[in-house]
Amino acid sequence: MAKEFSLTPKHVKRVETSLRRIVTDIPAPDSVPILEKLHAYEPVAMRGQPPIVWDHAEGFQVYDAWGNCWIDWSSGVLITNAGHGRKEIIDAVVRQASSHLLTNYCFPSEVRSRLVERLSGLLPEPLKKVFLLTTGSETVECAIKLCRTHGLKTGGRSKHVIVSYDKAFHGRTLGSQQAGGIPSLKEWIVNLDAGFVQIPFPDGFRTPDTSFDLFERSLREYHVEPQNVAGVILETYQGGSAAFAPPAYMQALRQWCTGHKALLVCDEVQAGFGRTGTMWGFEHYGVVPDLATFGKGISSSLPLAAVAGRPDVMDLHPAGSMTSTHTGNPICCAAALASIDLVVKENLADNARRMGDIMHTKLAALKSRFKQIGSVDGKGLVAGIACVVPGKKDPDGELAFDIVERCLEKGVLMFSPVGFGGGTVKIAPPLVINEAAVLESVAVLEEAFAEAVAAKAVAA
Ligand code: PMP
Repeated sequence: MAKEFSLTPKHVKRVETSLRRIVTDIPAPDSVPILEKLHAYEPVAMRGQPPIVWDHAEGFQVYDAWGNCWIDWSSGVLITNAGHGRKEIIDAVVRQASSHLLTNYCFPSEVRSRLVERLSGLLPEPLKKVFLLTTGSETVECAIKLCRTHGLKTGGRSKHVIVSYDKAFHGRTLGSQQAGGIPSLKEWIVNLDAGFVQIPFPDGFRTPDTSFDLFERSLREYHVEPQNVAGVILETYQGGSAAFAPPAYMQALRQWCTGHKALLVCDEVQAGFGRTGTMWGFEHYGVVPDLATFGKGISSSLPLAAVAGRPDVMDLHPAGSMTSTHTGNPICCAAALASIDLVVKENLADNARRMGDIMHTKLAALKSRFKQIGSVDGKGLVAGIACVVPGKKDPDGELAFDIVERCLEKGVLMFSPVGFGGGTVKIAPPLVINEAAVLESVAVLEEAFAEAVAAKAVAA
């Protein structure tokens, strides 16, 4: 179960640099009534994140209303690829709102036509048709529907198996949660669909065998006949660890899917729009999936998501049968167009690669300093630091939580630890971060690590 942050200040810190400022206890005393109101009226499930009250955010920094300022390592939750509060995005939103077109359902609108054309133009063949939705989970639901529809058409009712990966996260709706590979999140689903099968993800750390052989062996173990696979879906990198699969594995998987008429789906909800140092995460593999799902960084702001795919697959359902109330909301489309322009014009994928190289070099040094780090994964401006019990692979969620809390008190903001056993400290700053901020925030992490390890040793 996820740990909750306390509303009582722990370690009192004061910090003042040109990039971060902590001038109150954390949480800020004046923010407590707001936090208490949220506790009173929202479900407990909403209490998972650090107790700071966001007031405004700009570029790679987040501010509260009491003078505190953080270097942001969360991007919300990997949303603000083009940076927080970008004027270009705000202006586009205001312009669209001022035009008095606030919604359009599936009725045609010019702004929606521009966005689907833009996305299609940026994506490689054959990902040329685009269906706009609102959340990442919906895009995964849609991908599952398309895989099964395609399976039905090409192989009949038995071709319905959706293969995905252990420890994967694809969303919280019924289908996307079943495609996920975290058993504790599925306990409420008492009638699990046997057509969802998860196999080990070849991350090289928790699954040392990264050969494609493992894929075929795993299917045999689960008694899945290859001809019955409708689709294979994976996060382009696993969100819980930031681990990628080896390119050779993915290339073999691409071939296998083609050979068995199974659709390959890359869930790019986290990986898309420059995050990993390339525009699309799957570029690292040298393969193109049949379907790709997008969300989060697509707009750097308002709720918008998209499924892109092979035209023959995207056109499987007849007119009026794949719709959504808020599909391509005009204001969200305007925000997405502005954000995509920024990502492209400012070459933010390249900045993510360059800043990521600096960050990953520093993190590799951190790993050699602390035996509590089992592995560091990721590319570009996403990293996952797996905190473990020294000498073992058991996750140390307590340590990861303490590190996140200490960073917060020092002016570096992350979301709660993620991944297996809650042991992964995840780093995902806006792609506009600069070298000075990368170096300063990694130095803070190192300090927090040293303190948390020492505190744990004292407590033991
Ligand atoms: N897929 C991936 C890879 C994700 O990381 C997430 C969200 N963390 C989702 C899907 C679900 O997206 P949403 O929360 O927008 O429904």
